[in-house]
Amino acid sequence: MTEPLLSVKGLAKHFTVRKGFPKPKTTVIRAVEDVSLTINPGEAFGLVGESGCGKSTAARALLRLIEPDGGEVRFGGQDVRAARGKDLIALRRRMQIVFQDPYSSLDPRQSIGSALTEPMRVHGIARGEDAKKRALALLEEVGLPPNAFDRYPHEFSGGQRQRIGIARALTLEPELIVADEPVSALDVSVQAQVLLLLRELRQRRGLAFLFVSHDLSVVRWFCDRVAVMYLGRIVEEGPVGRVLANPLHPYARMLRDASPEPDPALRGALPRIVGEIPSAAAPPPGCPFHPRCPSAMPECSQVLPALKPTPEGGSVACHLYG
Ligand code: SF4
Repeated sequence: MTEPLLSVKGLAKHFTVRKGFPKPKTTVIRAVEDVSLTINPGEAFGLVGESGCGKSTAARALLRLIEPDGGEVRFGGQDVRAARGKDLIALRRRMQIVFQDPYSSLDPRQSIGSALTEPMRVHGIARGEDAKKRALALLEEVGLPPNAFDRYPHEFSGGQRQRIGIARALTLEPELIVADEPVSALDVSVQAQVLLLLRELRQRRGLAFLFVSHDLSVVRWFCDRVAVMYLGRIVEEGPVGRVLANPLHPYARMLRDASPEPDPALRGALPRIVGEIPSAAAPPPGCPFHPRCPSAMPECSQVLPALKPTPEGGSVACHLYG
């Protein structure tokens, strides 16, 4: 069996907020709770759910862009949470992120050439002419002309800026890319081009992906496996074909049924997800989905369902199963 490249067990991230006057009250927001997943070398793993479900927070916490509050993260067998100093820098080099909004992640005063060569210099990969040569090759690989090297972020369109963001993520030759809604800020016409580029890079470089998205059709096209998150927890996980074609968890089913239908003849007949997502500061007792679930039973409001294995190698957290 392949050793996972990334292994996450019981990841948790809580935020504390103090609100109110004159006597502020402290509230704990459980943004990510008990999230476990594995990603194999070269595999694309999708993390989906409604806005606010904790998917982006989970992705940032496992990279330690924000410090997790609990759980274990191992990358290539190394303990990411325990890594310090040089070990952490070396791990970070192997795991890179592509953000949703490339403009806010690029320094407007820094030329593209400098944005690409600086990480190479800092990590001791290349400097001077060698770094420039590598940066020019990266620009070509992501479909940008060589003169992009001397230009600045504001001179590019949204799609081109995302190509720059991708090139920058590749400067350190990572093994895993965390792509956090990488195309959702782009025009629809440009989305497909950037997705094609990501898929080409995945194939050519053997990259693994953690692909965070609210768009199920994109995840279906790009990913091998998928996990569905609801209120900070994974409620179903498995091969993307099975989970999105035949979801077991009632929330995964509603999410699938509410996702845009490519066939215009079927549009308009789709049910909507009913109710609001509850606050992560006061999650409902038992199954967090029970106030919105059409299949809820009395035990659902009392007992939190554990993730149980499904026959094809995935898992589901719902009292309807097992
Ligand atoms: Fe619905 Fe109960 Fe399953 Fe939760 S555990 S998804 S409330 S049936």
